[in-house]
Amino acid sequence: MLEVINPATEEVIETMGSATVEDADEAVSRAKAAFPKWKSIEPADRVKMLRRLAEALDSERENLARLESRNTGKPISEALGEMGMVAETFHYYAGMPERVLGDTIPVSGGIDMTFREPLGVVALIVPWNFPLTIASWKMAPALAAGNTIVLKPAELTPLTAARFERIAKEAGIPEGVVNVVVGPGSSVGQRLAEHPDVAKVAFTGSTDVGRRVMEAASGTIKRVTLELGGKSANIVFADADLERAAASAPSGFLGNAGQDCCARSRILVQKTAMDDFMSLLETAVKNVRVGNPADSDTEMGPLISASHREKVASFVPDDAPVAFRGDAPGGSGFWFAPTVLAPVSNDDHAAREEIFGPVAAVIPFEDEADAVRLANDTIYGLSGSVWTRDGAKALRVARAVDTGVISINSNTSVRVATPFGGFKQSGVGRELGPHALDHYTEVKNVYFAL
Ligand code: NAP
Ligand code: MG
Repeated sequence: MLEVINPATEEVIETMGSATVEDADEAVSRAKAAFPKWKSIEPADRVKMLRRLAEALDSERENLARLESRNTGKPISEALGEMGMVAETFHYYAGMPERVLGDTIPVSGGIDMTFREPLGVVALIVPWNFPLTIASWKMAPALAAGNTIVLKPAELTPLTAARFERIAKEAGIPEGVVNVVVGPGSSVGQRLAEHPDVAKVAFTGSTDVGRRVMEAASGTIKRVTLELGGKSANIVFADADLERAAASAPSGFLGNAGQDCCARSRILVQKTAMDDFMSLLETAVKNVRVGNPADSDTEMGPLISASHREKVASFVPDDAPVAFRGDAPGGSGFWFAPTVLAPVSNDDHAAREEIFGPVAAVIPFEDEADAVRLANDTIYGLSGSVWTRDGAKALRVARAVDTGVISINSNTSVRVATPFGGFKQSGVGRELGPHALDHYTEVKNVYFAL
């Protein structure tokens, strides 16, 4: 049995059965059996079904948000925003079945045309930090393109995925199209990545497990997309609006208590602005309200688990260069105070590894070339930001940083209509936007001799 914990109180919220490898096999069989029919539903009918599901998600938004907040410890305001995005993602892809377009290509002697065919059964393996949100980025395009799915949520956070399965059924998605298996990654996840009847694995999680998933998928040459870790740079030039940059920086490394693959956990600050920026940043960090996730004005909750808190704490040893810290509640719950380390060398442990907690490393730089060199000196390349009032410099730096998504004068990363994914060891493939559909379809080329 699996005990699901509320990380803000350490109380058991629910006890549920844990799936076995046999359960995973059965879910794949159900998805395989449902595929031919789901694939051949008229596009307009699939649009209607997905719209009904999107509307059901709109109606369930508050219930799902409360559940997600209790299970992850994220503030209710963030959970409401995320559940809004889940519904929006389904609304966006609901229109896609009629827009999965092919090409006609001029060739000699006939007509050549392309079609985008669904892949079959797709396994979706997701982490605990944004449980239903990340699942929706995979489920919505996979279903819109005509695939059937088996979703494996993280064992720590299975509640919204389990609820989603029921919502999909009630909204009229046919039997076998959406399947959720709650079980350990090392057995159930591994089996899905190896299963001969799974055509593709879409994985979000750590780079280490991503590597294992890629290996497991190689046995049957599965399609693989991976959204992995990050160590993104928030680059603040001396000519930036320093007040705005400092006011926004906490959202870049304290959002979701820093358990965010897009976290801007390296803050690169131009040396000439260091003192001014640090005093503004200190005020902003100390103003962040850390506490009960159920309170509507809470901005940061606890970490996901005791073992994860230990891992985060290992990045802040007694001799760490702590510039300042915010507050955190005591007592039960996996709390960790916002922490800023400065100055840090880009070669230090805290600047190289993904901490996945509310800890930022401030790294000084000289000039534009130095900033780009430091930003790129990492195995990752997921997100990032540039703060400057010089538009040309902003665009030069945005183009020069090897990263999948970068924002100018903002610390935001994801939008339903725009592509999201990593360079380098941050991943393979893109989610969201029209780009995601490429990863849930196969191109078929048909030649018609005239
Ligand atoms: P994780 O340990 O890699 O787990 C991710 C998922 O993979 C979980 O469902 C896990 O199951 C499963 N899993 C574990 N071992 C597996 C195996 N051998 N085969 C197949 N599946 C397996 O990641 P996490 O600790 O949950 O999440 C934190 C990491 O995710 C961070 O590194 C973060 O950067 C990354 N992340 C990336 C993105 C992105 O979009 N790039 C977004 C969010 C998180 P169980 O946990 O149930 O065992
Ligand atoms: Mg893990």
